[in-house]
Amino acid sequence: MKSILVCGAGGFIGGHLVKKLKKEGHWVRGVDLKYNEFSKSPADDFVIGDLRDQIVVQKILDQPFDEVYQLAADMGGAGYIFTGAHDADVMHNSATINLNILHYGQKAGIKKIFYSSSACIYPAYNQMDPANPKCSEESAYPAEPDSEYGWEKLFSERLYFSFHRNYGMEVRVARFHNIFGPEGTWWGGKEKAPAALCRKVAEANDGGQIEIWGDGNQTRSFLYIDECLEGVQRLMDSKDFFGPVNIGSEEMISINGLAQLIMNIAGKKLTIKHVDGPLGVRGRNSDNKLIKEKLGWAPSLSLSKGLSITYQWILSETKK
Ligand code: NAD
Repeated sequence: MKSILVCGAGGFIGGHLVKKLKKEGHWVRGVDLKYNEFSKSPADDFVIGDLRDQIVVQKILDQPFDEVYQLAADMGGAGYIFTGAHDADVMHNSATINLNILHYGQKAGIKKIFYSSSACIYPAYNQMDPANPKCSEESAYPAEPDSEYGWEKLFSERLYFSFHRNYGMEVRVARFHNIFGPEGTWWGGKEKAPAALCRKVAEANDGGQIEIWGDGNQTRSFLYIDECLEGVQRLMDSKDFFGPVNIGSEEMISINGLAQLIMNIAGKKLTIKHVDGPLGVRGRNSDNKLIKEKLGWAPSLSLSKGLSITYQWILSETKK
C-alpha cells in the first residue's frame, strides 16, 4: 500500500484517478477547491483547499508521500482557453500551484511526482495543416504554443525537470491529448468538444440542428479516460523514463467527423450549422512512437467505443 496525494482530485481526471488508486488498495488524500460534482470521492482524506495558498500546500504535504499526482490547473475547453479572457488567471493560478507543490514537496521529501502537461505546448507552426499535424515530443522547441495555457504548461514542465536536476526529485511528465469520458464537465463553458457535442446531440430533436465552432474541418484526437490513467501509471512505474511523453490517441478525426460519429451513436440525423467561435490550431494528433518505444504500450481503445459510453452518460445527465 502506497501513500498518495492527488491534487485536483475534485476534477475529471483526478476524480477517476482517486477511484482507481483506491481500488488498488492505496491510502489516498485528495485536494481540490471543490468536491467532484458527479460522484462522491472514495479518498481516505479529502481536503478542500486552495493550492495557490502556501499554508494549505504546507499542510497537505505533511508526510513524505510515495506518490504525488499534480493535476490541479485552471483550465477548460476552447471556450475557456482561446478567448483570451482568462489568460492572466490561467497563467497565474496554475503556475503558482506548481511552484508551491514543488517547493514544499521537495521539503516534505516526497518520493515521486507526476505532472500533467498538455498537447497545447506544441508549436502552432506545426499544426497549420489539418491532415498533417506534427506533435512528436522533440518538436516542442522552438516553442510557439497557441495559448497562454500552453505556455504555462511548458514553463511548468521545465520547472519539474529543474527540480529533478537540482534536488534529485523523481518526476514524471506526460502531455495529455484531449481526455474525455463520463463524469467530465459537459456544460457551463469549461466543457471540451466531445462533451459539448454529446450534449448538443443529446438535447437536439431528431431532424434538428446543432452548432459547431468554425468550419468543422479542424482535426483532433481524443483519448478515453481509462486509457489515460493506464498510461499515467505505466509512466509512473517506469524506472528510467521520465518523459515528457504524449498520452493520447492517434485516431485523428475532424470535428465534423466527431459530430457525425456522435449522431450515429445517438441514432439521430441532424444538420450542422457552422458558427464563429474560439478554435485553436487547425490540426492536432498524438504521436505515440516514443511511448511505444519507452513503455512498450500505447492506447488502443477505439474512439467510437469511448464515445458510446460517454454519450450514454451525458444523455442521462441531460435528463436529470
Ligand atoms: P479539471 O478542470 O476537471 O480538474 C482540475 C481540477 O483542479 C479542478 O477540479 C479544479 O477545481 C482544481 N483546481 C484548480 N485550481 C485549483 C486550486 N487553486 N487549488 C486546488 N484545486 C484547484 O481538469 P481535468 O480535465 O481533470 O485535467 C486535469 C489536468 O490534466 C490539468 O492539469 C489539465 O491541464 C491537464 N490536461 C487535461 C486535458 C484534458 O483533455 N482533460 C488535456 C491536457 C492536459
